[in-house]
Amino acid sequence: MNYFFEYSCNRCGLIFEASFVFAGPHIKQVCYGCNAYVKFFDKKLIPDVKEIKIKIWAVVSQDVSLIEAAKKQIGFIPANGLTEKIMYWRLYIYLLNQSKPKPEQISLL
Ligand SMILES: [Zn+2]
Repeated sequence: MNYFFEYSCNRCGLIFEASFVFAGPHIKQVCYGCNAYVKFFDKKLIPDVKEIKIKIWAVVSQDVSLIEAAKKQIGFIPANGLTEKIMYWRLYIYLLNQSKPKPEQISLL
């Protein structure tokens, strides 16, 4: 799985996809692991919903039930524009994090 914006955190050591939060009219990148501020992020660079959906589809191996469960977990709400992008982005990285092999699973490989 290739990340759109791989971020390596020098505070908690997590290497993961970029995580975004609203900061007034701006978008702020934070670490998914420790919530550390990374930078203000150019919202034009955030992929289109269509591209994010393609990634989500790959992450869940086309299992719609995983998407529905994740939507409940993150409080997904239908939206449009930038809010829609951020909603789908949250869904994407939530599922991405869930799909990561846990350390005990790695040892069984
Ligand atoms: Zn971190």
